[in-house]
Amino acid sequence: MLRNVKTYHKPLTIEDAVGLVHSNRNAVYVGGGAWIVAQGDPQLEVLVDLQKLALDRIDGEIEAVRIGAMTTLQALIDHSDVGTFAAGLLAAAAGFTQSRTLREQGTLGGTLIVAGSADPLTTALLVLDVEIGYADPVRHIAPFESFVAYRDRLIETRALLTGIRVARPPTRSATAFEVVGRSPKDKPIVCVAAYVVVDEGLPVEIRVAAGGIVDHPVRLLKMEHLLKGQLLTAERVEAALAPNLEELNPISDYRGSAEYRLEMVRVLARRAVMHAWNEARRK
Ligand SMILES: Cc1cc2nc3c(=O)[nH]c(=O)nc-3n(C[C@H](O)[C@H](O)[C@H](O)COP(=O)(O)OP(=O)(O)OC[C@H]3O[C@@H](n4cnc5c(N)ncnc54)[C@H](O)[C@@H]3O)c2cc1C
Repeated sequence: MLRNVKTYHKPLTIEDAVGLVHSNRNAVYVGGGAWIVAQGDPQLEVLVDLQKLALDRIDGEIEAVRIGAMTTLQALIDHSDVGTFAAGLLAAAAGFTQSRTLREQGTLGGTLIVAGSADPLTTALLVLDVEIGYADPVRHIAPFESFVAYRDRLIETRALLTGIRVARPPTRSATAFEVVGRSPKDKPIVCVAAYVVVDEGLPVEIRVAAGGIVDHPVRLLKMEHLLKGQLLTAERVEAALAPNLEELNPISDYRGSAEYRLEMVRVLARRAVMHAWNEARRK
């Protein structure tokens, strides 16, 4: 229960929002509020609602799309540009984040802040060219990968996420998103996103990210490196994954043992890379 909340602010500027959170240890930003209300932290005294900061915009530009941190997860699916962007990768990932009710409430910013090990959206964003904006209150832009690696530090500094910029993939590229969960629409136990760019019949860029293996989604960089420039076959993809699998120390819980997770990442990575590769070649 949020029984200790004394003040509720709706600041009009990003600087004011950051200032309000920085001035009280027991203040938090409120995106959609889904997580905050579910947690019911009795220590919270001040809520800083981000609704008036105009961060719920999606702006399609020629080379990129900008998505504000207050954009809801459902808007990522329904928006005509983002919904089909990168062959629908973001929309597909958003569809696995929550139930429809929570997707209408949960925002991009709040979701990225509380994202767990197998967060579909974080996994999908890792394979695209993404920059993330935050304010502390000075405005910064960082590669999305750094944000994922150093998210805890950013949370400690109580920075405000403002949004992301996702570059439009080239024409001869394709994406794929593969998931295993307890049921087809349940949150993933393991998920894999792949992105392949083809030029002159060969993959000139390959990115693969996996969620549900360690405490946050990770890129499979060794695999990417080994496959770049090679004609891809299922056997080659599996062989290239081996060095990555050897260095991962998977989590294990009631939803999946470490062995199961490793086996699933092997299957899903092979499927995702082969699917993206075949789609990109067809273009
Ligand atoms: C019933 C239920 C089930 C859930 N199941 C899952 C699950 O299975 N897996 C999972 O990963 N998540 C789960 N969640 C969490 C869910 O992803 C979040 O509730 C929701 O997507 C977060 O979005 P929000 O905008 O509502 O965040 P909020 O509740 O508003 O905020 C979440 C956190 O992010 C901070 N925050 C919000 N916006 C910003 C911003 N722009 N900049 C900086 N900090 C910000 C807040 O201060 C807070 O600490 C569940 C939540 C509920 C209520």
